[in-house]
Parts: sequence; C-alpha cells; structure tokens
Amino acid sequence: MEFIPVKTFDSYITANIWLGKLQDAGINCYLKDEYTVTIDPILTNAIGGIKLCVDVEQLEECRELVFAFEQQDKQKQQCPNCSSLNVSYINKPGPKNWFTAIAMWAFASYAVSAAKHVYHCFDCGTEFDEVSNKELDSIAEA
Ligand SMILES: [Zn+2]
Repeated sequence: MEFIPVKTFDSYITANIWLGKLQDAGINCYLKDEYTVTIDPILTNAIGGIKLCVDVEQLEECRELVFAFEQQDKQKQQCPNCSSLNVSYINKPGPKNWFTAIAMWAFASYAVSAAKHVYHCFDCGTEFDEVSNKELDSIAEA
C-alpha cells in the first residue's frame, strides 16, 4: 500500500481535525512527522510541517473531500448579511442590565444560562449562529 502527502499543516491541532474528518469519511490516512513538529516547532519549517498522507487508491476521493471541507470552512466565516470575511467567533456578552437579567431569569428557561457563542461581523455588525453541519454529515455518509 502506498501513501502520498495531500496536505501539510503547521499546527498539530489543525492536522488532527483534518485527520479525523477524513477518517470519518472512510479515507485511509495518517499524519507524518506529527511528533517531530509537536516536540520541536522550530523544525516545522525545516521538514515542511505535518503531512497528511493518504492511500493512493483513495487519492481522488480524498482530494474532493479536502476541497469540500475547505469550501465549507470558508463559508462558515462569511457574513450572511454583507458577505464579508472579517468575521470572528466570539463569546456573546450576557444581559447588559439588571432588568434584562431578571426578565431572562423569569421568562427564559435555564437553557439560556450558558454563555452563547456567535459569529460577529466586524464590517456590518451582524451576529449569526454557527452554520449547520448538515453538508459535512452528508459528505461523511456518502
Ligand atoms: Zn457583515
């Protein structure tokens, strides 16, 4: 069985997220130089980062998945209102004053208590929830 690198990473965490995504989709793959990079990040540039290596038999399938995941990552951070890419995932502040706090306590369920994360657009101020993972799921099941 022959493996060839399809993607490289500087970050151990990102590399493992991608490894998990592709393995979930049934791709036979592994990370090369993962430990070298983790132990000594300075070496990362010298050896070309962590390489995601894939079974050549599944190369085409893998490339399509990588492309689809990359498109999805881009879309995730795009503002639905103005299409800006200047978007960050932030911790939404809680109630701003005591009245709101009491109103929330009185009318909302306990589920509201957890801090809510939202995407915030720094260009137009729109805040939106995470894009659903439906697409990702359908790719994984295919
Ligand atoms: Zn916007």
